[in-house]
Parts: sequence; structure tokens; C-alpha cells
Amino acid sequence: MVKVLDEHERTMAFAEVALGQIRSLRQTAIPRNYEIWYVYATGYNAPLNKIINETLARNGKLTEADLEQIYDTYLSHIKTTDRIDKVGARVIGEIDEVLKLLTDALGMSESYEACLDGATQKLSTARTAAQVKPIVEMLLKSTREMRETNMALEQRLTLSRGEISNLQQSLEAIRAESLTDPLTGLGNRKYFDRMIETEVQNALANNQPLSLLMFDIDHFKSFNDSYGHLTGDQVLRLVGLSLKQTIKGQDITARYGGEEFAVVLPNTALRQALTVADHIRRAIMAKELKKKSTGEILGRVTISVGVSMLKPDDDTDSLIERADACLYAAKRAGRNRVVCEVDPEYTAEMRGQVA
Ligand code: GH3
Ligand code: MG
Ligand code: MG
Repeated sequence: MVKVLDEHERTMAFAEVALGQIRSLRQTAIPRNYEIWYVYATGYNAPLNKIINETLARNGKLTEADLEQIYDTYLSHIKTTDRIDKVGARVIGEIDEVLKLLTDALGMSESYEACLDGATQKLSTARTAAQVKPIVEMLLKSTREMRETNMALEQRLTLSRGEISNLQQSLEAIRAESLTDPLTGLGNRKYFDRMIETEVQNALANNQPLSLLMFDIDHFKSFNDSYGHLTGDQVLRLVGLSLKQTIKGQDITARYGGEEFAVVLPNTALRQALTVADHIRRAIMAKELKKKSTGEILGRVTISVGVSMLKPDDDTDSLIERADACLYAAKRAGRNRVVCEVDPEYTAEMRGQVA
């Protein structure tokens, strides 16, 4: 209950700052402006705050055009949708162009064929050089035209090939962005959901081991409360970095939610997974946190890890549920530890739930 109230109060404070800004600057209270000022109030998006502060210092106000540009530039989900729209429109435009070219080319080749047929007929009855000459001239003209059309088509198709390959790259960048957590650069929840499903199906089909680690930063709320959310965000980045440095190869890392992370370890049995989990735990604990702006030492953060290993009758959900229950058991047992499903902490937890 206390947690809910805290989150309620925290977000209400942001909402009040947002509405206060809209009121004092006499802006329209439309969702776009509210979103800009809400994000401003959280301080999560430093470049957005910087541009707003600079514009206000310079002009004393934000015009409609300023607000529109700030929204488009700094609220990235809008940027992504916008980019998808633009790339989508270009793909459709390009397909239209190529279809038109193909239709023209088809018409041209049909009329060329008709010309060849006509010439064949005429040639079969021509007897004199004078009769043959105009037929040959017509054939030459048609062939020249056909060649020109083909060359133009070839040039345009070469252009199209370049444009389509650019579009492919843009789409790939958007796709990658839509699966990436912007704060840590790790895969996001959508990426995790997709990857774990594929890996679990793979492991079940081929009877191979697979383990899952889920971990959560200990007492992160109080860390945020003491040092602020921006510093909290830095810690999340650092945890992401430690994870990237520790986990390599085929293993899949993702930010599962707020301050919770997940690692899928294909081809890995429980013992090995426990070693990896402890490795991550130690790597994160080893990092001394320092506030960038002041150099102030903030101490360290620890994590609690839950580890589950795929069983033949598992599906993705049951595997995640067990890792999550182990993570919960690790928290209950005192935090800063790794718990797996054969550990007494987990079995005690399960017995407690049944009782
Ligand atoms: P526990 O050891 O039981 O996990 O305690 P906790 O305080 O970490 O857990 P709790 O679920 O109470 O709090 C999680 C906190 O994580 C709440 C929120 O302030 C913080 N958090 C979640 N997402 C973000 C984020 O993107 N940035 C920052 N800075 N903090 C976040
Ligand atoms: Mg936590
Ligand atoms: Mg949590």
C-alpha cells in the first residue's frame, strides 16, 4: 500500500508541475503539451529539458512551432512512428514507380512483337529490294526504340535497386530500434518475449538444456529516493553495461521491466547457469557508483537473481514463473544472492505458498 501511495504521489507531483507550466505559459492543455511538460518534470529526457530551458531563456516563451518541433525531435516514440510512416510511404511510392515502368515496358514489348509479326508477313511477300527497304527501315526504327526503352528501364531499375536497398536499411534500423531499450541499449521486453519463445521451442524440439536468469536490483527505490531518478537511470545503464560485458555469444540479455533484467541461456544446464548468475551478481556489486556531476561516491548496488531450467513439460510462461518465484525467494532470503529451483530457499517458499 505504501509503495502504491509513493508512486501515486510521485507521478501526481510531475502532473502538477506539467499543468503549472501549461498554465503559467498560457499554452493549450492538449495531450501533446502535457506530455512535453510531464517528461520535462521527470527530468528523464535531459536534451528535452535543455532545449526548453534554452528557448525559454532566449525568447521567454515557447511558440506552437517550438512545441511541435520539440515533440517531434525529443519524444522518440513519435519519431519512430513518423519514420515508419515515411519509410512506408517511400516503399509504396517506389513500388508504384516500378509497376508503372513494368506496365510501360510490357506495352512496348507487345507493340514491338506486333511490329515483328507484321514485318515477317510483309517480308514473306516482298519480292524486290524496294519492297524490302521500308520494312527493314521500320524494323530498325522499332528496334532502336525498343533498345532505348530498355536502356531507360535498366537505368531506372538500377536507381530503384539503390532506393530499395536504402529503404531496407531504414526499415532494419527502425526494427532494431523498436526492439531496443533506449536507456540501457539492451533488448527490450518485446525482444525478450520473441527470443525466449523461439529458444524454448528450439530447446524442447531438440531436447537441449536451457536456463533462464531473472534479476532485480535490490532496494532500488530507496536509491532513487536518495539520489534522484537521473542518477537511478545512470545505475540502470551501468547494470546494462555490466551485463553486456559479462554475457557474450548466443546468450540473450534484455531489460524485462523497470529495474528487472532477464538472460536466456540456450544450451546451458542449471549448474552452469548458476555460475553465470553469480558472475553477473559479483560484476555488478564490484562497481563503485560515482555521481558524474559531483564525483560523490554513492556506494554500490546489489542484485537478487532467480534461475530456472527448462523441463520437458514446460512452456515459456512456466519457465518464467519459476525464475520469478526463485527471484522472489532470493529477495525474501535477504537479497544479494542467487536462488534456483533446487535451493532450499525456493522449496521453503513453495511449501509456504501451499500451506
Ligand atoms: P527490492 O529489493 O524488493 O527489489 O526493492 P526495490 O526498492 O528495488 O523494489 P520496488 O519494486 O519497491 O522499487 C522499484 C523501483 O525502481 C521503483 C522505481 O523508483 C525504480 N525504477 C523503475 N524503473 C525505473 C527507471 O526507468 N528509472 C529509474 N531511475 N528508476 C526506476
Ligand atoms: Mg528492486
Ligand atoms: Mg522490481
